[in-house]
Amino acid sequence: MQPLIFRKGLNLGEEVADELARAYHSALVDQVRAADHRYVAGRLTVHLAREFGFCYGVDRAVDYAYQARRRFQDRRVFLTGEIIHNPHVNDQLRAVGIRFLSDAGETLEQLDADDVVILPAFGVSVRDMLRLREIGCTLVDTTCGSVLNVWKNVERYAADGFTSVIHGKVHHEETRATASQALKYPNGQYLVVLDGEDTTVVCDYIRHGGDRAAFLQRFRKSVSPTFDPDRHLERIGCANQTTMLMSESLDVGERLRQAMIDRYGEADLPAHFRAFDTICSATQERQDAVLALLDGTPLDLMLVVGGYNSSNTCNLARICADRVRSYHIADPRSLVSAGEIRHRLIGPPSTAGNVEVVTRDWLPAEGPVSVGLTAGASTPNNIVGQVIAALAGFAEPVRPPEAPAP
Ligand code: SF4
Repeated sequence: MQPLIFRKGLNLGEEVADELARAYHSALVDQVRAADHRYVAGRLTVHLAREFGFCYGVDRAVDYAYQARRRFQDRRVFLTGEIIHNPHVNDQLRAVGIRFLSDAGETLEQLDADDVVILPAFGVSVRDMLRLREIGCTLVDTTCGSVLNVWKNVERYAADGFTSVIHGKVHHEETRATASQALKYPNGQYLVVLDGEDTTVVCDYIRHGGDRAAFLQRFRKSVSPTFDPDRHLERIGCANQTTMLMSESLDVGERLRQAMIDRYGEADLPAHFRAFDTICSATQERQDAVLALLDGTPLDLMLVVGGYNSSNTCNLARICADRVRSYHIADPRSLVSAGEIRHRLIGPPSTAGNVEVVTRDWLPAEGPVSVGLTAGASTPNNIVGQVIAALAGFAEPVRPPEAPAP
């Protein structure tokens, strides 16, 4: 029997609207938006980016998850993993009774046809989808349309004998799901490149060939099982994880195009190289908005709010850190005091990791302070609002501790 798949919600949007608002809405954020994205508290002025926080894909995924919980109150409801990369949102979903197959003790094998499984915004791999269909679970598919668009192109590459070269993080759920689309075809191939260094290695191999074994060793976790660089770099198509830094994805694509021109000549390029733009519009808008904020407003520092494993948040932080002292914080608890902040180290994907550090004297102790603020696409407004409220608590100058009375 074909499993039931819900792809357009469950007609319970109005019923869950209040619950969603209680969980994720912020009156303070609405107030700041209405005040031209500025919030003044004593000596502090907070400048909120024009676009920040939940994107359309995340909004929809979270909405459908609450609808699924409401609709199937008498059945077990699972998520295949984190619905988005924000611990608060995931914990809220656990709190309403949704179980995560990625949690300790939970496995795909325990599922049966009575269960309901929600697929996250970044989708699941072809293999997991097949398995879920075999089991016959009811599926609530929240895969974002922008991700589906990438899949469509990767599938087309595979059908036409082109290897998908995907700019992304190989362990990210979205990139794994995207790469798996290439394997729908018997000779489909993929190669995931993380950064400029990976791209240099691939471009060198395209131009001059090289040490096949060394290439395969370097990319052992990033290529399809039967990938052979001597054969599968002859025809390539570019794709990317939707939340990468747009400027870097464009650079990767352009460098690969140049390498293919050098190898095969401009006239033969269409037979060897394809590309299309797969940065989603929400990611692009948030990156553009933060650049506009940095260009247009003198800032003493920038705060970027979002999960440490959120790719788009990490990339927003990188943009900011190039221009002004910046801190990637998880939530308002990161603002320990006016003298202490807990934050993730910012850096390129190959070096940054998810290391949290503590910095002291992060906020100028006195005088006017201009703080820029943005949040990744998986950060709900209530968290942004709480950060603004926490900042407002530091509006008074920081006084040195008074000497004890004699
Ligand atoms: S970041 Fe883009 S691709 Fe990802 S869920 Fe949001 S809108 Fe969709």
